[in-house]
Amino acid sequence: MHWLFALLLFCLGCTTDSNEQPANKNEAATTITTLMPTDTIWALQFDYPVGVNGTSKGYYNAQGFGKNNHLGDDWNGTGGGNTDLGDTVFAIASGYITQAEDLYGGWGNVVRIVHFLPKEHLNAPAVESLYAHLNEIFSKKDTWVEKGEPIGTIGDAHGHYYAHLHLEIRSKASLPLGGGYSLDTTGYLNPTTFIRDNH
Ligand SMILES: [Zn+2]
Repeated sequence: MHWLFALLLFCLGCTTDSNEQPANKNEAATTITTLMPTDTIWALQFDYPVGVNGTSKGYYNAQGFGKNNHLGDDWNGTGGGNTDLGDTVFAIASGYITQAEDLYGGWGNVVRIVHFLPKEHLNAPAVESLYAHLNEIFSKKDTWVEKGEPIGTIGDAHGHYYAHLHLEIRSKASLPLGGGYSLDTTGYLNPTTFIRDNH
């Protein structure tokens, strides 16, 4: 089955997308095809990125997917303001970290994780989660992470906002960063709906 898996990864990295810049496309192909099947930790289940045991208890979604053309969810502590600054952010599912760096501007510290879906979901080989505005990053690029593992803390993108977690889930790995808001939702999933359906 390994040849099939290798082919799957190759196709995932090489899928064309009209929004993608050539540099990003090459980057995507490199990242995904270097993963070996024997190393794969499958994403069997998805949790919320905040709260005890992935429950989101003590947090609320202040700006859901689609509101004001938002491409993700904004998780905030129920205490309001910066009461959630420094709270732990957890990996929503097991996967491979493809980005963990400070992008400054409106993004701040960003982590991306590619979640490989088991074989019964072959029509969607992987999804990607993106966590933005983090105060700290605990994770390292090009490493595997398990569901529920702390990957960083809730931040304010160097003072740009009140502290909150911007979470996106993409239907395809390694799409361009984007702007967090767009009328075009191609490649973006509603994070809360996706997590609820795969919890
Ligand atoms: Zn947001």
